[in-house]
Amino acid sequence: MERKMLDMLACPKCHGDIEEKGMFLLCRKCSLAYPVLEGDIPDMLLEDAWNLSDAEKNGFKHDNSL
Ligand SMILES: [Zn+2]
Repeated sequence: MERKMLDMLACPKCHGDIEEKGMFLLCRKCSLAYPVLEGDIPDMLLEDAWNLSDAEKNGFKHDNSL
């Protein structure tokens, strides 16, 4: 994902910084991982977010179909 786009995004829960990791955008503060969908589209919906530990167990991968 482009750095510029990443800078524009914030965690919808705490409005903090997020970091890109594998197929997710992470908020370390909330321990949440937001999936990035096909076409570099970040899914920043809280209800779609994974627990950070689950994403880590999955190798920061998901199959794009939520
Ligand atoms: Zn957060």
